[in-house]
Amino acid sequence: MTHKQLSSVLIANRGEIALRIVRACQELGVTSVVAYSEADRDTLAVKLADKAVCIGPASSAKSYQDPRAIISAALAYKVDAIHPGYGFLSEKPDFVEMCEAEGVGFVGPAASIIRSMGDKIEAKKIARRAGVPVVPGSDGAIDDYDQAVAVARDVGYPLLIKASAGGGGRGMRVVESAETLESDLAQIMSEAETAFGDRSVYLERYLTDIRHIEIQVMSDGDSTVHFGERDCTAQRRNQKLVEEAPSPVLDPQLREQLAAASVALCREVAYRNAGTVEFVFDNIERQFYFIEMNTRIQVEHPVSEMVSGIDLIKLQLEIAAGNPLPFAQEDISIRGHAIECRINAEDPAEGFRPSPGRIETFRAPGGFGVRLDSHVESGYTIPPFYDSMIGKLIVWGNDRDEAISRALRALNEMHVEGITTTAALHAAILDSEVFRSGRFNTAFVADFLSSE
Ligand code: ADP
Ligand code: ADP
Ligand code: MG
Repeated sequence: MTHKQLSSVLIANRGEIALRIVRACQELGVTSVVAYSEADRDTLAVKLADKAVCIGPASSAKSYQDPRAIISAALAYKVDAIHPGYGFLSEKPDFVEMCEAEGVGFVGPAASIIRSMGDKIEAKKIARRAGVPVVPGSDGAIDDYDQAVAVARDVGYPLLIKASAGGGGRGMRVVESAETLESDLAQIMSEAETAFGDRSVYLERYLTDIRHIEIQVMSDGDSTVHFGERDCTAQRRNQKLVEEAPSPVLDPQLREQLAAASVALCREVAYRNAGTVEFVFDNIERQFYFIEMNTRIQVEHPVSEMVSGIDLIKLQLEIAAGNPLPFAQEDISIRGHAIECRINAEDPAEGFRPSPGRIETFRAPGGFGVRLDSHVESGYTIPPFYDSMIGKLIVWGNDRDEAISRALRALNEMHVEGITTTAALHAAILDSEVFRSGRFNTAFVADFLSSE
């Protein structure tokens, strides 16, 4: 079969991921068109892209999250496909349907797959059908208090109420005992309605000694390969802070089981393009349970790139062009250890209050095994309208100890003046005995913060 190539791509995102996609396009010889809001005119992605188009005002509802603004730009620039990055329109099936109707390619799976996986209740049903273990809980949506009581009797406390449309660490609530079940249920339903426009919720057992482990997959519609796991146990408020690969706790047999479960799930839906199958891993039982699938590239994809040596964004573009996977599972080998720190413009001493503003000076770390995926530079002003992540520091080492030392060295080398970042907190976390031991659970960061 002859190799197919996209001639141009519209990048419907901002910040580090827009820049990441520009770089992949350049290496492939694909014309990159960055869609930017009025607040992002002076950003690195706009400067480095082949073309840039303003799609609206600062408010993301009227720019990055406005399907019509994005589709109009794609049609005006006659691009072959839209790369949505993560967040914004990346998991919006209605938007993907619009692309399909307009004949514009979408770098991701079909709308129907995004719709079923984006509904967490439906995703769990598909996982069960594929023989993948899921967290014990309700079989489907919980419509009222009586139903919740019945499930709680089987599952026990503590319980977790989750919004079916939740994401980004939002739309979850722990119920400690039967006393608050009714009020917690009412509250999360109304929060879900406001935040996601969908009040469907479900119940899960709240597992207390767990790690978050996920599998990176890539499919061409026929076959699926995986790139091993990422361990994202270091979280704050259910949001990832530090990610690493491989996981410090898996043995080869469990690793194989997780990967096989993820590939089976992809096969069940004839998955296409990049995806991540997320699991919680019970430290005591050493048993894993599916929680959700993200049908897009993830923030932490670089750790898998560093240990596999494969550029996942280029691979996404190759598959979106209509090419089959260029290699088989046995061609992928995982080498060494990678760690990513999400650096945010936030002040940990002030309850992680966002710290937007002008970066007077920015010194990027460098050297062997150090990668900085960031859109910031000296003189750049972080706008207050978006996510506070200013970049990701990713390091590679021959083993976990070397990766930790290298991350600490690079964090120390990085120098940001003018705003407050979470870099020093990352250094403290990585340097802690608990992190170094590799033995912790999702409560680790909260415990660490309260002990400081
Ligand atoms: P990843 O899953 O890639 O590790 P996150 O879960 O933090 O990363 O999500 C990536 C981005 O998408 C973040 O900016 C997050 O705020 C945003 N996001 C993901 N899902 C949703 C959602 N349902 N609603 C709002 N924002 C979301
Ligand atoms: P999101 O869509 O916001 O990423 P997830 O379902 O992936 O939501 O869950 C986010 C995080 O919440 C997980 O990484 C894990 O730390 C925690 N979590 C999710 N489900 C459970 C559960 N049943 N018990 C305990 N913690 C959970
Ligand atoms: Mg998740």
